[in-house]
Amino acid sequence: MIDNRSKYFVFVPFCLLAQAYQAEGLVKYEWVSSIKPFVKLLIDNDINIIQMPCTESTYNNSLIRKPMGLKKYDTLKFNTHCENIANLVAEEIKEIINSNYKVIAILGIENSPSCCVNYIYTNHGNEKRKGLFIQKLYDKINCYNIPFIGINRKHINKSLKELEELIEAIKTKE
Ligand code: SF4
Repeated sequence: MIDNRSKYFVFVPFCLLAQAYQAEGLVKYEWVSSIKPFVKLLIDNDINIIQMPCTESTYNNSLIRKPMGLKKYDTLKFNTHCENIANLVAEEIKEIINSNYKVIAILGIENSPSCCVNYIYTNHGNEKRKGLFIQKLYDKINCYNIPFIGINRKHINKSLKELEELIEAIKTKE
């Protein structure tokens, strides 16, 4: 049976494909819906794109919300919500790996209290740490050594290059 599927995957934050899920006032740059350079790179390289659920909009049951710092989100209720979503995403990742497919990377959005990889927005400026959701996901799948890449939407070049290099490295192994 002929089957032409790509066996490569990248997990992306929900708002990478749909920035309407971002908190109000955060969609400031040239991309009004998807953050196009990342989506284009993944599509051009035939990589399966898995959109992780947006923890904040699903928690608020609405797309409309003000940006809030870590303190407002770091509650038992929101952390439990993130834990449940992290469990679902981790299971999905395990299924992919158990099928002998490859997860190339997991992308996050810098400054987000939920989805940042390196820098989080607090009510007292930025701190170096992972977001509440990404930290939980990281703890569950750490054993697989999948790279996490944080996208700073103001300066995307560094994270875009990191992703390009990971894809290139995989292609040269093929
Ligand atoms: S919680 Fe994550 S997916 Fe949702 S808008 Fe924020 S960064 Fe994007």
